[in-house]
Amino acid sequence: MATYSNPQEESLDPKDWNAFRKLGYQMIDDMTNLLETIDEKPVWEPLSNEIHEKFQQPLPTESSSEEEVYQEFVENILPYPMGNIHPRFWAWVIGTGTPMGAAAEFLAAAMNPNVGGGDHVANLVEKQVLDWCKAMFHYPMESSGLLVSGGSMANFVGLTVARNTMAGYDIRNEGIHPDHRLTMYASQEVHSSVHKAVEILGMGRQSLRLIPTNSAYEIDLNALQKAIAEDRSNGCQPICVIGNAGTVNTGAFDNFNALADIASREKMWFHVDGAFGSMVALTQDYKFLVDGMERADSLAFDLHKWLYMPIEIGATLVRNDDQHYNAFTYTPTYLTHGTRGLSSGERWFADYGLQLSRGFRALKAWMSFKNYGTRKYGRIIQQNIEQIHYLAAQVEASPELELMAPVPSNIACFRFVVDGVPEAALDDLNREIIYELHEQGIAIPSYAILNDRYAIRVANTNHRSRYEDFDILLEAVKRIGHRLAQRSLSNQ
Ligand SMILES: *Cc1c(COP(=O)(O)O)cnc(C)c1O
Repeated sequence: MATYSNPQEESLDPKDWNAFRKLGYQMIDDMTNLLETIDEKPVWEPLSNEIHEKFQQPLPTESSSEEEVYQEFVENILPYPMGNIHPRFWAWVIGTGTPMGAAAEFLAAAMNPNVGGGDHVANLVEKQVLDWCKAMFHYPMESSGLLVSGGSMANFVGLTVARNTMAGYDIRNEGIHPDHRLTMYASQEVHSSVHKAVEILGMGRQSLRLIPTNSAYEIDLNALQKAIAEDRSNGCQPICVIGNAGTVNTGAFDNFNALADIASREKMWFHVDGAFGSMVALTQDYKFLVDGMERADSLAFDLHKWLYMPIEIGATLVRNDDQHYNAFTYTPTYLTHGTRGLSSGERWFADYGLQLSRGFRALKAWMSFKNYGTRKYGRIIQQNIEQIHYLAAQVEASPELELMAPVPSNIACFRFVVDGVPEAALDDLNREIIYELHEQGIAIPSYAILNDRYAIRVANTNHRSRYEDFDILLEAVKRIGHRLAQRSLSNQ
C-alpha cells in the first residue's frame, strides 16, 4: 500500500540524536560543576550593561543549533545566578534547590505529562506526594490536596474554599452580595499573598481584618475575639481565621490550638499559612511550634522554601475533600471524565484548583522525599534554626550589634549601632551595610522594618550554610558598619 510522504515535513526533535545526547552529558557536567563549586564564587554580582544588552535582541526568526543556543546560555546566563544556591544567601524566604531536584525537573519536562487529570502515572505520583505531606503534618488522610506554584497560590486555593464554603449562599453563581460583608482575620504580620487573595476573591482588602500582635509578633487572641464580636454586631459575617506558621518578618508562630478553638466556637473556617514554618513539624526540638496546626480546615505551604526543592512548588491541603472539589470543579463537555481509557478518573486535579494544564512538579517532590527522607530533612531544618540561634547569640555578645526581635525559629533581625550615630541615621547606615554586603558578593541578607526601625534580616532556609558562613557575615557587618559610622561621625 502506497503511503504519502512529504520531504518537507519537519519536527522540533534534534536532527542528530547522538549529538544531542552528547550535549546533554555536557549540560550535566556543567550543572554539577556549578553546584559543586558554588561556595567559591561571590554570592551575587551586579549585571553589567553588556549583559543587559545581550537581552535586547530581536525575536529569532531563524534556527540555531542546540549547541549554539547552549553556548549562549553558558556565556550569558549561567555565570549570573541569583545567589540563592550559595551558602551565604539568606534573603526573604527563598530555598536553595538540590541537585536531585534539578535532575527531576529535567526528567519531568522530558516526559511532559499534563497532570490536570486522567489515567496516567503522574497523577499517582502527585497523589502519593500529597499523602506524604498529610503524613508529615499529621493531617487526615481523607483530606484533599493540590500541588501549586507556591505559597501564594496555596493561600489563594485555601481561602477560596473558605469563602465558598462559609458564605452561606451559592457564591460561585451569585458572586459577592454587595450589601453583605464577609470578613477574614489574620495578624498584622500576615503575608502579602493573603491580602492579594482576599482582593482577588472579590471581598475587598478591607475585609481582611488585621489584628495586632504581642511583643513576640504572635496574633493577640483577645484583640481577635473582640474584632470578631464587633464585626458581628455591625452586621458583618466573619468567615475565616488565618494563622501564621512562620511570619515573614521574624519567623513567629501563632497559637494554633487557640485559633482552632476560636474558629470552632465562632463557626468559622481555620486556614494556616505555613509557607515555610510548617516544616518545623519534621524537627525533634521545634515541632511544638506547630502544635494544633493539624486542626486547620486548610493548610498552605511551600516545598520550594524549607524543603529546598527547586522553585516552583507549593501545596494546599483541605480537610474536607468535597468542599475543596465543590469550590473549583467545572466540567464542560470537552473535559467529561470517562469511565475507561486515558480520560477516566472520577475527580481530576483540575477539579481542585484554577489550572487546567498542570506540570509534573510532583516528580521533583517524589524524588526528593525518597532521596532525603523526612529524618534528614528534619535534621537540616533544625540545623538551620540552630545556626540562626548561634547568629543571634553572636549578635547579643557584640556591643555594636543589637537584636531587634525575638528569634523563635530560622529568622534573626538585628542592626549595627554605635554611640554617637543618631537613631535617625541608623536606618540609612544599616541599609547601606546591606547594599555593600550584596555588591561585594559577601552575603545576601534582606531587611525588615520593625517598630519603624530598619533591621538587617537573615532568614535561613539554606541547606548549604555552615556556622562559619554566619561568622563571615557578622565580621563583614561590623567592618562595613564601623567604616560607615566613622564617615558619618566625621561628617557631623
Ligand atoms: C513566601 C511566603 C508566601 C508566598 O509563597 P510563594 O511561594 O512565594 O508564593 C506566603 N506566606 C509566607 C509566610 C511566605 O514566607
